[in-house]
Formats: sequence, structure tokens, C-alpha cells
Amino acid sequence: MHTSWLAHPQGTLAARPRTREIVDRPWHMLIGGELTDAVSGGTLDVVNPADETVAARMPLGGCADVDAAVDAARDAAPSWAATSIADRAAVLTRLAEAVEAHGEELAWIDTIDNGSPIGVMRNDFRVAVAQLRYFAGLALQLRGETIPMAAHDAFDYTLRDPFGVVGRIVPWNHPLMFAAARIAAPLLAGNTVVLKPAEVTSLSALRLGEIAARIVPPGVLNIVPGLGSVAGERLVTHPDVPRIAFTGSSVTGRRVQARAASAAVKTVTLELGGKNPVIVFPDADVPAAIDGVMAGMNFTWQGQSCGSTSRLLVHQSLYERVVGEVGRRMDDLRIGDPSEAGTDVGPLVSAGHYSKVSSYVRAGLADPALDLVAGGTFPDRPGYYVRPTLFSAPGGPAGPLFTDEIFGPVLVAAPFDTYEEAVSEANALPYGLTAGVWTTSLHTALAAARDLRTGYLWVNSSSAHLPGTAFGGVKNSGVGREEGIEELEEYTQPKNVYVRF
Ligand code: NAD
Repeated sequence: MHTSWLAHPQGTLAARPRTREIVDRPWHMLIGGELTDAVSGGTLDVVNPADETVAARMPLGGCADVDAAVDAARDAAPSWAATSIADRAAVLTRLAEAVEAHGEELAWIDTIDNGSPIGVMRNDFRVAVAQLRYFAGLALQLRGETIPMAAHDAFDYTLRDPFGVVGRIVPWNHPLMFAAARIAAPLLAGNTVVLKPAEVTSLSALRLGEIAARIVPPGVLNIVPGLGSVAGERLVTHPDVPRIAFTGSSVTGRRVQARAASAAVKTVTLELGGKNPVIVFPDADVPAAIDGVMAGMNFTWQGQSCGSTSRLLVHQSLYERVVGEVGRRMDDLRIGDPSEAGTDVGPLVSAGHYSKVSSYVRAGLADPALDLVAGGTFPDRPGYYVRPTLFSAPGGPAGPLFTDEIFGPVLVAAPFDTYEEAVSEANALPYGLTAGVWTTSLHTALAAARDLRTGYLWVNSSSAHLPGTAFGGVKNSGVGREEGIEELEEYTQPKNVYVRF
């Protein structure tokens, strides 16, 4: 147990931990302002994906814990809603400062828990801090409308009411970033929150709970780790949780929608998966496009990003050049211990996910329609490592590697001949989260922006999320938009008021 770490006034470190020791201590959930164990006393082993050892033990929340958290959130809701929005924003600002002060610690916790290299995990806490500050700064933008009336003794205006308790469920690929950033909008809008982190990466959310307990009033933010099928479902179906916000896979998202509807009419927003296309047109700036294809795969998170552009469509005239160079770059990536500064690619998050991703790689190796261009191997060491892998389908896209979200470091490529063929292939799947196009033609760029069915499009760019812009999907990739003012508004319910005086 490392009390000196916890006791440090700012959470910054004189001597930064370089090991798993920072997670080897008791962990608690946050319910009603108290740091607690699970009612059942149950715990879950936290496995370090870099070496498959048990790094910590955390409380495993169940239905009773979710019920207690919802009770606390419901009780805290009226006074939080009655708190001025400026004061709510001030709480978010203090939380941003505290997360920033503890950023190094939080980044290390995520690296040990999730396996992504420490350099990119540091970026995650910075994004979380920026999002907390962004929403705090939007406080005075949460407005209603007044509506002109024919009668001179009447007017009409709108209020934006909070829902009450928001159930917020997040996945494991950016543990702290999602936990901290995605509570900002619901809290600012005057809701209280029950946050459920993913069971394989809950530690940074639990650390956030310890930090927030000193800043956020009791019951306003509650953090309950637990299995999706137990704690997650309980939150989704709880009668006192009218608003669910879910980030995760499309399969689970559809179940969340159905389970929520089985309990009541609820407002459900979903940020789900994708099998995102990137199209390299014949007039592309080829070196820039190759850089963009590499960046778009988010190999630094082992490809485990919803926005990864993992379906590469290249015009026939550039196909060999682009696919060959991308393959060479992938072979150059340094795969290894995520706590080492020089590592580009760490392990996948868990044994279960390794099993899923490696089965797709093996299926690709066995498919005669696919040529292996890079990777296709599994480093012989403990940990859930998969070498970044590129398959080429010279005869055109076919099979599950082109249709399923693998959510790992696996890129598939196929050639096309015409604009229509590329767009039709890009739109062929039931997903529509992100897409990328590489072209020097204004006409082609704007036509693609019009024709591609996606929630977020990069033209001659990739991967980046511009702060304040709306992120979200169409089709089975989701409902609702996050990261911009739309997210804040989606945590309110407009109430129309017709006044005669
Ligand atoms: P997942 O759907 O398995 O789990 C996500 C969360 O839902 C976890 O907290 C899990 O415990 C919980 N959960 C699981 N079953 C549940 C149930 N029946 N009821 C309620 N909650 C339940 O997804 P994952 O494997 O953790 O994350 C990867 C997926 O998330 C990928 O598909 C990825 O594309 C997607 N994702 C989307 C975005 C986005 O912004 N669109 C961002 C990150 C990840």
C-alpha cells in the first residue's frame, strides 16, 4: 500500500512511480460521498495485460451497490439542480484542476490496467481535463428561447430541465478519459450521475472517485465498478434512472436500448462501434495519405479505438505503393512493455479481447482471398500482444475481416476503380462512425462529404477530434452527439412555458 502517494497534497510526484506498485493497494467505490466496499464483499482481480499478473483487487459492485448509488444520486439531485450553474461549473473547474494535478498518477494507473503505452495515456488525462474545462466554460451557453406571440399580453419561453439521475456506462479503451470527460456535461446540466466503468479497467475511475469525493457534493457523483451483465443492466433498468448514456459496442448498445425500454421510456444515447473506411483517391498526396492511414489506425492504442479507420480502400493506380509502404511502416512499430518510453504498441487490454482479435488474425491467415502484408504473428512473451497486422484483398473486400469491428491492430485493404465504387463500399456496412478521404480535388472532397454516411469525416486528416465539435455515429454506430454543446443539451429536457399576463 502506497499511502505516501495518496497523501501528497497535489498528487504530483517527486519520484514518479515506474512500476505497478501504485495500484497495489485497497480500492473503493464512491457512493453518497463515501468510499465503500461492495455490499456483498465481492472483489475482482485486476490483471496487468503486459504480463498477465494480478496487479490489484478491486470491489465488484452488484445490484445492491447500484441501488445504493442510485438512491444517493436521487437524493442529491434536487439540491444539485437548484445549485446555480455558475457554481456547478466551478465544481467542474476544481475537478479539472485536481485531475490535472494527479495526471501522472492517473496515466500510470491506466497503463498498468489497460496496457496502452504511458505516453498516450498521458494524453488521455489531458483530454479529460480539457473536456471538463470546456463544459465548465459552456455554463452560460445553456439557454432556452423566447417565442414571439400574436397577443400583446402573452409570451412563451423554454426552460431546460435536468433529467435527475444519469446512468453513465463507459468502455475500457480510454478509461480515465471517458470516466472524467463524460461526467462533465450531465453534471453541468444539473443532473447527478452514477458512473459504471468497464470491469477490465476500473482503477482510474476509482481513483477519480477518491479525488472527486473531496470536491463534488455527496451523492452528486457515484462510481460503481461491476460486470456489465449485472451492475450495468441494473443501472440501465433502474426505475429511478431516466437517462442512460452508453459508450461501448454496437451489440451491447442495442441490448441497452432494449433493456432500458423494458423498464420505462428512457432517453438513451449510444456511442458505439465502427468499421471505419479510409479512401485514398488517385489524386491524393500519397506520403501524407500514408501518414494518415498509419495515424488513423491508432496503433498507439493497439488499434483499440472506435474511430480507427480500419478499412483501407485505395485506388488501383496507387494500391501497391500505398499498401506496401503502410505494411513496411507497420513492421517498424516497436511492440513491447507499455511502461517503456520507446514502446509504440503495447498489449491488448485483456485475455478475452486477445482471444477475439487473434481469432480474426488466424481467420485472415487461413483465407485464400487475403494476402498477409505485415504482422500476423504473436510475440512469444507473457502478455496479450498481437503484432500490427495488414491483410490485402486484391480481388476486392470480402469476408468478416471486412465487415466486423475487430477493435485491434488489424487493418484490411482492398483496391477500387471508380469514385462510385469506393463510396458504395464505404457505405456498405451497417456502421457509420468515422471515415477518412485523401484527395487534392475540392470536388471529390465535397462530394465525399455529401455522400458518405458517417458521423465524423476527415478530409486529408485522420484520428484527431477537434475540441468542441460533435462526435457520434449514424446507423448502428450510435444515437446522439458528444464532445460539443450538443452533448450538454442532450442532458436537458426542454420545457415549454406559455405565459399570459
Ligand atoms: P462493451 O459494450 O462490451 O462494454 C462497454 C461497457 O458496457 C462496459 O462498462 C461494460 O461493463 C458495459 N456493459 C456490458 N454489457 C452490458 C449490459 N448488458 N448492460 C449494461 N452495460 C453493459 O464494449 P467494450 O468492449 O468495453 O468497448 C469496446 C467497444 O466500445 C467497441 O465497439 C468500440 O467501438 C466502442 N467504443 C465506442 C466509442 C464511441 O465514442 N463511439 C468510444 C469508445 C469505444
